[in-house]
Amino acid sequence: VFLPRLVASMEVEETYIMIKPDGVQRGLVGEIISRFEKKGFKLTGLKLFQCPTELAQEHYKDLQSKPFFPKLINYITSGPVVCMAWEGVGVVASARKLIGATNPLNAEPGTIRGDLAVQTGRNVVHGSDSPENGKREIALWFKEGELCDWTPVQEPWVKE
Ligand code: UDP
Ligand code: MG
Repeated sequence: VFLPRLVASMEVEETYIMIKPDGVQRGLVGEIISRFEKKGFKLTGLKLFQCPTELAQEHYKDLQSKPFFPKLINYITSGPVVCMAWEGVGVVASARKLIGATNPLNAEPGTIRGDLAVQTGRNVVHGSDSPENGKREIALWFKEGELCDWTPVQEPWVKE
């Protein structure tokens, strides 16, 4: 059986998921959070936050040479975002699949962007692209004491 690399990870990982200002303004917070909750991942951090320009620039520093960078920073700082840390086996790639392609018109129906968005510059949600970036971004967006180490009662019904 061919298993794509995207779903092959059996490691417990952490990912940074963020509902962008358009997702908050459009009233999609509950809808987006519930997709990760229903999947069975563990929420370890959650806050509504007005992102300062410097933090947006640091978060997207790999894209700073792109022509759309100034527009992207304006977008991300244009209103409150919902910052989340999620944990689980293979959560990084799995969350990217739940989110769908960067351009919502190319995102499959059933994905968050495929179901809820139209344009790349208004694609409602962010998800880390690697376990390393998951750790980097969670450390960037959350202070110590804002994350919870807890055991969901459903855990044995999600993990065998
Ligand atoms: N973006 C954009 N125009 C582009 C490419 C990206 O406005 O041509 C924005 C978009 O909001 C995207 C974000 O920059 O989600 C980060 O780009 P990346 O390639 O990392 O996409 P993602 O990982 O979010 O799918
Ligand atoms: Mg990215």
